[in-house]
Amino acid sequence: MEHIGLNPERLRIEFMSSAEGILFAEVMSEFGNKVKELGPLGKREGMDQKELKSKLAEITKLVPYIKLVKNEKLASRLVNPEEYDKLFTKDEIDRLFSEVISYYIDPEKCQACMTCAKRCPVEAIISAKNQVHVIDQEKCIKCGTCFEVCPPKFGAVTKISGEPVPPPIPEEKRTIVRKSKER
Ligand code: SF4
Ligand code: SF4
Repeated sequence: MEHIGLNPERLRIEFMSSAEGILFAEVMSEFGNKVKELGPLGKREGMDQKELKSKLAEITKLVPYIKLVKNEKLASRLVNPEEYDKLFTKDEIDRLFSEVISYYIDPEKCQACMTCAKRCPVEAIISAKNQVHVIDQEKCIKCGTCFEVCPPKFGAVTKISGEPVPPPIPEEKRTIVRKSKER
């Protein structure tokens, strides 16, 4: 929440068993008052609805990526609340967001074999016969499948971290002219 400029006090995690009804009621009442005090989401943080929606969409899009890169930690079974507190350090979270990975298809290397497009789980690859393939960064969930399946002899998919993704090649320049057809 802090990463997108929202007050982290809007989220509260408490450990309790289903037998602790009184504790649950107390926590909910206290937290309800806290949320009322903080006011409508985004307003106190100085964001209008449009900015709030776009920031929430931006972070929601990263959820599958976070699940993937932190799969091991997220799956670990912890017993004590203290263990949860130590599971992710603030530095680690900051690094996770500053080093978000993106995937990019190098138009010079792509041979339009279509393998990546067939395997992309969210149809984020703009694909057509004899056309350089392009990743739609808005749809991409950063699963890395295209990077893994692009045949090594082409090696057209690159992993980018901490740098902007190059803009997509214009549509009119995507046609691949095969050497045999050049003659
Ligand atoms: S990283 Fe995953 S979601 Fe993104 S384009 Fe490649 S296969 Fe599709
Ligand atoms: S798998 Fe590689 S070469 Fe084949 S279409 Fe995708 S990016 Fe291009």
